[in-house]
Amino acid sequence: MPAGWDPGPEGILIPLEERLQQVVVIGGGHAGLEAAQVAARMGMATTLLTMNLDQIGQMSCNPSIGGVGKGHMVRELDALGGAMGRLIDATGIHFRILNESRGVAVRGPRAQADKVKYRIAARRLLERTAHLKLRQGMAARLVWREGTRGLLGVELLDGSVLPCDAVVVTSGTFLNGQVLIGARRLEAGRAGEPASTHLAQQLRSLGLRHRRLKTGTSPRIASGSIDFSRLLVQPGDDPPRPFSFFSTTIPQRQVPCHIVHTTAQTEAIVRENLSQSSLYGGHIEGVGPRYCPSIEDKFVKFPDKGRHQIFVEPESLETEETYLAGLSTSLPPEVQLRLVRSLPGFEAAEILRPGYAIEYDSFDPLQLRRDLSVAELEGVWFAGQINGTTGYEEAAGQGLLAGINAVRWLRKQEPVVLGRDQAYLGVMVDDLVTKGTDEPYRMLTARAEHRLALACDLADSRLLAVARAVGALAPEELAQVEARAASREQLKARCDEAWVTQTSPFGAVAAGAGIRLDAGLTLAELFRRQQMGTAEADACLALLEGWDPNQPGWDAARERDLLLFDLRYAPYRDREARLLEGQRAWDHVRIPSDLRVDHLHGISREVLEKLALHRPETLGQASRIPGITPAAVTILHLLIHRSERI
Ligand SMILES: Cc1cc2nc3c(=O)[nH]c(=O)nc-3n(C[C@H](O)[C@H](O)[C@H](O)COP(=O)(O)OP(=O)(O)OC[C@H]3O[C@@H](n4cnc5c(N)ncnc54)[C@H](O)[C@@H]3O)c2cc1C
Repeated sequence: MPAGWDPGPEGILIPLEERLQQVVVIGGGHAGLEAAQVAARMGMATTLLTMNLDQIGQMSCNPSIGGVGKGHMVRELDALGGAMGRLIDATGIHFRILNESRGVAVRGPRAQADKVKYRIAARRLLERTAHLKLRQGMAARLVWREGTRGLLGVELLDGSVLPCDAVVVTSGTFLNGQVLIGARRLEAGRAGEPASTHLAQQLRSLGLRHRRLKTGTSPRIASGSIDFSRLLVQPGDDPPRPFSFFSTTIPQRQVPCHIVHTTAQTEAIVRENLSQSSLYGGHIEGVGPRYCPSIEDKFVKFPDKGRHQIFVEPESLETEETYLAGLSTSLPPEVQLRLVRSLPGFEAAEILRPGYAIEYDSFDPLQLRRDLSVAELEGVWFAGQINGTTGYEEAAGQGLLAGINAVRWLRKQEPVVLGRDQAYLGVMVDDLVTKGTDEPYRMLTARAEHRLALACDLADSRLLAVARAVGALAPEELAQVEARAASREQLKARCDEAWVTQTSPFGAVAAGAGIRLDAGLTLAELFRRQQMGTAEADACLALLEGWDPNQPGWDAARERDLLLFDLRYAPYRDREARLLEGQRAWDHVRIPSDLRVDHLHGISREVLEKLALHRPETLGQASRIPGITPAAVTILHLLIHRSERI
């Protein structure tokens, strides 16, 4: 080993002096655990500081991971060395692939977690991660070296200081958090946990733009008090399919979920008591998530809907507690009890924990660079709910990228910035730092322009080059992904080469599917024919030289679907890729931070104001800011050119 170097994890060599550098991650929620885990996996000395070590990976709301869009991001972060996919596979008790019949591009994995086991598994994973220390405590403020912009550390409420060179703040709903139930307002970061007021005060006092957002959660019910025989059973997939590209088994016992619908009585109770709800009684100023409305919102905003579906989900195999997804409410507890008991099968229900709303500080993500660092503060990254998003997966994805980029910044490497055509994670970060958000941001597939390029099952091959550069996967994991990507390429090449004639082995399959073979065609062309279903494709693949459905790490049915998808949509994807070339080129044109646009003729005041507020780092980013016209982008381009020549 060369002098001055130290072995990092997985055989990566780390300069010895870097051992002196350290990253501190504030917060052990979904963003924080990913940031800390990946930074340590990259070989950086890392400390995760959180208020309560027993709450690492706590699911504040629904006990589930994934869904369409969100599940895509879990696969992407898994492909880069993230923890969420492995954690849910280890602790999931009900798995389903959503949109299964709607095709590979919009298919999304989802699973119910055993919430208790998820927390334990998350903590255990971090405890076993080399280079990572855990510390319980409350961060009170960030400390910079006097007279410089260099970060010194994080000061805790007890006065001690954790020295660090980079800090990732992932404080979730805790900054100036206030829990609301009916007319009551309590200072808290989450039910039963303190709010973080000192850190919130410091961040506000640094002049960062902030606003109040809100979210809410549903009551939890004693499972024994529910008559499950009256509910609609929703079984999970059998067999369950893992989230992670690296999981081989789903170890937990699988259980069903249930569905129930609200009744006319439920609606009457909500309407009669609207003025008592925190939201409708005028007690909330924060903006709530559009896509997770409270039950009050559902009845008020969708009066013609009649009834609403409620998912009845087990919280854990270890407890007798049931979660009601879709019944988030901030009505007073006694009204909540009547509300719950109006559901069929819930006539004798007992509430273990009432639902509530929570209001908290979040910071305008337009103040972030594309690597999620805060433009005005050196060495500081923000990730998760603090940036105005909602959801575990959104938080985890940002945490992972912030952790990666904090380490890369310390190592003086270029940041990892994922393109909108490369990952849903790229779409989310670009949306946040380019357009900002006025309400809690949640990932939806509709936000991505290039859905055909972003199928979640292909995230490992798609992000392979980035995973190599990041270096957070173990060598055997990387080898597995490389082997799978190579097999996929080989398979496609063989399909392009294999010739289908009436007398070739594939001829009989084609004839059976009603395909005439007057002129020969390649196997790839045969697969593009509408008549070729999965049974015909399987029959052809069984005849194809080199197709081994039993090779390690290879899910034959999934790979067949991916191959068909790849071959059928290749022409559309190629066209999309050509259209994208121009846009990609713009994403590589950097706008110098000292570029003077203010005295430029031909750019309106509105555009100038937007450029000043959004501070785009590239021409591509500038072109995506709402209100920036194509003409303004052209002028900006010219200006950049001119500044480069000076
Ligand atoms: C009541 C409620 C309802 C929700 N409803 C939904 C919903 O319907 N749909 C949805 O998608 N999402 C919902 N969420 C949001 C979801 O929980 C979050 O999006 C997600 O957990 C955010 O992850 P995070 O890592 O950013 O923050 P969190 O998971 O909140 O974690 C923050 C962590 O930071 C720690 N921390 C904070 N300040 C400090 C400090 N000063 N020092 C040390 N540690 C600190 C906390 O202890 C905690 O561990 C809800 C959250 C709550 C609280």
